Amino acid sequence: MWRNTAVENIMTAPASGKLDRIVAEARRAAAERDQGYRERALKIYPWICGRCAREFSHANLRELTVHHRDHNHDNNPPDGSNWELLCLYCHDNEHQRQSAAATSDGSAAAASVATHSPFANLKALLEKK
Ligand SMILES: [Zn+2]
Ligand SMILES: [Zn+2]
Repeated sequence: MWRNTAVENIMTAPASGKLDRIVAEARRAAAERDQGYRERALKIYPWICGRCAREFSHANLRELTVHHRDHNHDNNPPDGSNWELLCLYCHDNEHQRQSAAATSDGSAAAASVATHSPFANLKALLEKK
């Protein structure tokens, strides 16, 4: 019986600090995951933009971004089948094209462009410098 009591105490314990830790942990995991798929994509694929065929080197690699073909950043199959390397400009175009195609009157497209941040990861990388 003491086991049940112990479990109950854990479940009902005040969770404010615990929740903070969980949120921090989730943020860290997400950052690591983003970093992980970018590095992996850069290992799998040649450093060439999939749209304009611009070639990249270590010097300008930060301008090469990882696009998710299904636009789901949580879908990261290890074989890289959901990734596409695009330069900043083509990546931007890709998302604008997608959101424009998804709507007829353009109002939702504007909202989608405003809230979607395909380069959040890049920004984080730049800020790390
Ligand atoms: Zn390009
Ligand atoms: Zn993208």
